[in-house]
Amino acid sequence: MRKPVMAGNWKMYKTPAETSSYFEKFRPRVEQSGHCEIVVCPPFTNLAAAVDSAMDTRIQIGAQNLCHAAKEGAYTGEVCANMIRACGCSHVIIGHSERRQYFGETDALVLQKTVAALESGLTPIVCVGERLEERETGATETVLIEQFEKGIAGLTAEQFAKIVIAYEPVWAIGTGKTATPQIAADTHRVIRQRTAEKYGPGSAASIRILYGGSVKPDNIKGLMAQPEIDGALVGGASLDPVSFASIVNF
Ligand code: PEP
Repeated sequence: MRKPVMAGNWKMYKTPAETSSYFEKFRPRVEQSGHCEIVVCPPFTNLAAAVDSAMDTRIQIGAQNLCHAAKEGAYTGEVCANMIRACGCSHVIIGHSERRQYFGETDALVLQKTVAALESGLTPIVCVGERLEERETGATETVLIEQFEKGIAGLTAEQFAKIVIAYEPVWAIGTGKTATPQIAADTHRVIRQRTAEKYGPGSAASIRILYGGSVKPDNIKGLMAQPEIDGALVGGASLDPVSFASIVNF
């Protein structure tokens, strides 16, 4: 039985003060939500405030990126996995399509960062997903397999067992165009099948694959009705505590 994960990606929004007031509203709404893991991923500058606000609750805090795969060093402006872990975070999003698109992150870098996160004891939420033209030209499966092969498949079976995968079709992120539950589930099956081939049926049965892309309170139920979908990575709708709580409590 795979425990769902509901993760919120705040992107580049909110200040520390706004973070604390968010949690005042969010905390009581998810107090009883033991059916899933809840992860909130604010910007780096708000991690301390978020960890503080989530103390003694079931809410876990994650970062949105791990800037550098090195353990430490003279890399001005960067942040490494140990620092994120030491802040009190448990998770980190890696390879989000916005990182791939705007910051040139490659599958090889995604793999390096995933390994660095694991070595620090963080749970990486590794994102994969196709662009609109790739879906329209029937290349979705090829793109996902390539992202898997060049990124995730470099992990050992032991490392792989500790990650969460997020399938996020790029055309559905921030566009209001959600993949239908059927499309999402079919694509999750492709990833699970590849997992079975690479890591065996046990790993395929236990890996959690989240869906991300315009998840809202009014479409989460349909998505979660698909046994293939093990939770959601939520961007825009996670910025509002009432809306994210209603997604958590689908
Ligand atoms: C995301 O940023 O990972 C995301 C899925 O965004 P949105 O929910 O706004 O589409």
